Amino acid sequence: MEKCYVLFGSNMGDKSALFEQACTHINIRCGQVVCVSSAYESEPWGFEAEEWFLNRVIVVETELEPERLLSELLEIEKELGRVRHPEQSGYSSRTADLDILYYADRIINTATLTVPHPRLHLRRFALAPLCEVAPDFIHPIFHKTQEELLQQCTDDGIVRQMKNE
Ligand code: ADP
Ligand code: MG
Repeated sequence: MEKCYVLFGSNMGDKSALFEQACTHINIRCGQVVCVSSAYESEPWGFEAEEWFLNRVIVVETELEPERLLSELLEIEKELGRVRHPEQSGYSSRTADLDILYYADRIINTATLTVPHPRLHLRRFALAPLCEVAPDFIHPIFHKTQEELLQQCTDDGIVRQMKNE
């Protein structure tokens, strides 16, 4: 059983409901959701969009190997209505994005999967919820805690913790 940290992101539709659905699907298909961060609203990162993101970290204990976990998460994204536009380059609005931030302390580099997520240390919207659920967890490449990564992060995008979520 391995502990994984998955980042949920959505800036389309009923974001809170989509988050709940994502957790339900993960529980059924991937493993036990043992903890979730509170909700954060964050400014779109890397592209222009009206609608801000809802971001939350989901902690899941899984027996699935990393590639299998990724394919299940991509299936869940599809079920939650995410449409990918291959002709569009770069980022775009989405109902559900599920990224693997960490898979225990493993380092993985395949054609389809990079873990730890290669941009996580650059993104306040990933580090803020991570700090809530795993402040002392050590990044297996940078050898820094989530608290340290957040302190050193130069991302100036706005990320607000939402009350009552
Ligand atoms: P982004 O999350 O950067 O907006 P996508 O969700 O469209 O982009 O992901 C594109 C691809 O990124 C996925 O099909 C997957 O193969 C690849 N990928 C590589 N590493 C990861 C990871 N750690 N978590 C999720 N997807 C990843
Ligand atoms: Mg993704």
